[in-house]
Amino acid sequence: MSSDIVAIDGSKFKAVNSRDRNYTAGKIDKRRQQIEESIQRYLDAIETADRTNPTGSDVKAVRLYEKIARLRQEMRELARVRKQLQKQPEKQLSKTDSDARSIATSGRGSGIVGYNVQVAVDAKHHLIVEHEVTNVGNDHGQLSKMAASAKRAMAKPKLKVLADRGYFSGPEIRACELNNISAYVPKPLTSASRKKGLFTKADFVYVARDDVYRCPAGERAIHRFDTVENGMNLRVYWPSACPRCPMKKRCSPSDYRRIRRWEHEDILEAMQRRLDRKPDAMTIRRSTIEHVFGTLKHWMGPAHFLTRTLRRVSTEMSLQVLAYNIKRVINILGVLRAMKSMRLARS
Ligand code: SF4
Repeated sequence: MSSDIVAIDGSKFKAVNSRDRNYTAGKIDKRRQQIEESIQRYLDAIETADRTNPTGSDVKAVRLYEKIARLRQEMRELARVRKQLQKQPEKQLSKTDSDARSIATSGRGSGIVGYNVQVAVDAKHHLIVEHEVTNVGNDHGQLSKMAASAKRAMAKPKLKVLADRGYFSGPEIRACELNNISAYVPKPLTSASRKKGLFTKADFVYVARDDVYRCPAGERAIHRFDTVENGMNLRVYWPSACPRCPMKKRCSPSDYRRIRRWEHEDILEAMQRRLDRKPDAMTIRRSTIEHVFGTLKHWMGPAHFLTRTLRRVSTEMSLQVLAYNIKRVINILGVLRAMKSMRLARS
C-alpha cells in the first residue's frame, strides 16, 4: 500500500546538443560582436606588418587573411541562423536536437541545453509514480499537472504533495486544492528586504473578520480598490496613517504602503498553517526525491540523453524510470516476491 504523500521535483538533463549549437538572439549578438572585434584586431596586425615589412610577403599576414575569411564565413552563417530564429515560436534554435532548450541551472553561468524532467515520488516506498519530460525551463507551472497525474496513478481520493519554493504559484496551489490535493510549498524567500531590516508582507496580519490588515505599527490597512495582475484578481489595502508613521523608513518609500491580497489568498494561508504544523515537510521532500535524480543521472552518465527530440527523449526517460522502479521493487520485496508480483499483475 503506497502512502498518501508524494514529493514532486524537477531536474535538468542534458540533450544531445552542445551549447555552441544552441542559438538565441542575445547569443548571436554577442558572437557577432566578438567576431567584429577579432576581425578588427587582425586587420590592425596586418597593417602593422605592412608598415614594418612593406615589400616582403609575410606568412603571418596570409594566415591572418585566412582567419578573417573564416570569421566572415561565420558571420554569414550567423545571419542565416538569425533569419531561422525569427520563425521559431520561442526565439530559440537548437541545431542538433530541435526540441532542446537552453535552461538555466542553479549554479551561476552553468546553464545547459536540455530538458526539464519532472518526477513525483511516493514518500513511503520511494517509487517514481509519475514523470514527464518538458522543455520548459522552470518548475513554476508544473505542480498541479504532476500532482493530478500522481493522484490518478496511485488511485487515491486525496493526496499530499511536497515541493520546493520553485513551485510556489497561487493558481497552481489552488488547482491542487480543487482536486483534493493538499500542497506543501514554502513561499519564496524575501530575504533581501528582511536583511535590509525592511518589513515584508509576512509582517502584516490579515484580520478576516474585518477584511483589514494590521500593519507593524498597529494601524489598520483598509481595502481601497481591486486590480488584476498577471491574470490574478487582487485587493489592495493601505493605512491612512502612513505619511506620519515613525516606522515609515522601514516600510515603504511611497506615501502609503500598499498590501496586495489575491482573491484566493486564504488557500495560501491555509497551506502556510499546514507547513507550520509539519516542520519536517521539506526534510521528507528532500530525502524522498533528491537521491532519485542522483541515481538516474549516475546511470545515464555525463551526457544524459542519447536520443533527440522530445518524443524520443520522453521514451528514453520512461525506460530509465521503469528500470529504476523495478530495481526499487526488488530492493523492497526481494527477487522472488518481485517476480511473483509481476506474474500476478500480468495474469
Ligand atoms: S508606514 Fe504605514 S504600513 Fe508601514 S508601518 Fe507605518 S503605518 Fe504601517
